[in-house]
Amino acid sequence: MKAQPQASHFIDGEYVEDTDGTVIESIYPATGEVIARLHAATPAIIEKAIASAKRAQKEWASWSPAARGRVLKKAAEILRERNRELSELETLDTGKPIQETIVADPTSGADSFEFFGGIIATAMNGSQIPLGGDWAYTKRVPLGVVVGIGAWNYPQQIACWKGAPALAAGNAMVFKPSEVTPLGALKIAEILIEAGAPKGVYNVIQGDRETGPLLVSHPDVAKVSLTGSVPTGRKVAGAAAAQLKHVTMELGGKSPIVIFDDADIDSAISGAMLGNFYSTGQVCSNGTRVFVHKAIKETFLSRLKARTEAILIGDPQDEATQMGPMVSLAQREKVLSYIDKGKAEGATLVTGGGIPNSVTGEGFYIQPTVFADVTDDMTIAREEIFGPVMCVLDFDDEAEVIARANATEFGLSAGVFTADFSRAHRVVDQLEAGTLWINTYNLCPVEIPFGGSKQSGFGRENSAAALEHYSELKTVYVGMGKCEAPY
Ligand code: NAD
Repeated sequence: MKAQPQASHFIDGEYVEDTDGTVIESIYPATGEVIARLHAATPAIIEKAIASAKRAQKEWASWSPAARGRVLKKAAEILRERNRELSELETLDTGKPIQETIVADPTSGADSFEFFGGIIATAMNGSQIPLGGDWAYTKRVPLGVVVGIGAWNYPQQIACWKGAPALAAGNAMVFKPSEVTPLGALKIAEILIEAGAPKGVYNVIQGDRETGPLLVSHPDVAKVSLTGSVPTGRKVAGAAAAQLKHVTMELGGKSPIVIFDDADIDSAISGAMLGNFYSTGQVCSNGTRVFVHKAIKETFLSRLKARTEAILIGDPQDEATQMGPMVSLAQREKVLSYIDKGKAEGATLVTGGGIPNSVTGEGFYIQPTVFADVTDDMTIAREEIFGPVMCVLDFDDEAEVIARANATEFGLSAGVFTADFSRAHRVVDQLEAGTLWINTYNLCPVEIPFGGSKQSGFGRENSAAALEHYSELKTVYVGMGKCEAPY
């Protein structure tokens, strides 16, 4: 098979198989073809992965931060050297066009390893606190064995965004990719070994929603970092809370983009398109509620329609292709059913709305779709669709649009397009979200914290802030005199 790995799991520096596990088929979304067959981890594999990580973590944490950083920087170098090959694998795993994976997947993973490898030499410092004669000091220490659980939209990026800060801080990670995209994370584990990481510091095991809970509840696991949907987040956070484990939750969204009448319209259309159609709309931070000021609505919609209809949909391995298929048949069915709801509830279909005629075969393709005249109560304006479906809503007043933008349980991201900078800052100050953009959208370089508020989650990935979520403070009080007691 085209992308068959040596074995399903990568534990303690080597590929491991246990054919007793449920079969996981990896399907190439552009053709529907099975390209690899793997097995979900059995309880024996889970035990092996966690025991190996527990052993390795002790040694890894004893290295100086600078020495750990050297390994991570080397991993970044290897990721960049192999960008083409890894991007091709990511395209097979997800169906995302090579035009995207070559700039956004292994390279963004490399950025993460490079960044954390670079800052860790100074980022684990503690403080010294004078107390008169006595004094205290603090140390930042790793948590131990941490579990990473990934979604299917950015498999390699998620494996790196969780692995890099976790390892930098001195933890060992057991990572479980989504069962829909099992391939990429195995390569990250291989590369870390090649870069010099001790065996067991980053193990990858396969599995689905039955496997995840076994990892979360394992007594040797100190923390869980999940990227997934809100319902899964509730289950995972609940299970972790039962054992008082640390958690990072990177969950779903229904983010607003607010476009004022003084905005550069073409730039705002670019932002809205990036925030709805990149990765065939399968991006958690997408700005799927696009609030457009009534004064520019007609111009906005006509230009948006023309640009949307010009998107090149097709073979994701062709460098010219701008939009590939959806990740799975099930996800396309889900998105098509939302499109039906949009039509039934009275939204105006501007373009798209079905399966493109231009592509033949069994791939899970869908047209980029724009609805106008969407109202706040419609299902397509309330629920996360996770596909290329843009909802355009009208507004004419700043206070009104802020209230409507915030009227959601989600709080992942938000964007504002305007030429008036005081308005831009005033509005973003009031929007309830973890990551916000002014006059651009969806840029997430490793230097800036990324994460959600409200039901979109908690904890942050990227930036030095991520290290706080993979370590804790240890305080040491130093008594300099005799210990006095009243009895
Ligand atoms: P999902 O919630 O179905 O699955 C996510 C992962 O959790 C998978 O690996 C799955 O096997 C595992 N899982 C499922 N049930 C579990 C349980 N009870 N215990 C432990 N693990 C369990 O999500 P998905 O369909 O893979 O991804 C799409 C969702 O992810 C969307 O809602 C999207 O917004 C969100 N997402 C968020 C971000 C972010 O950074 N905020 C990034 C990408 C995707």
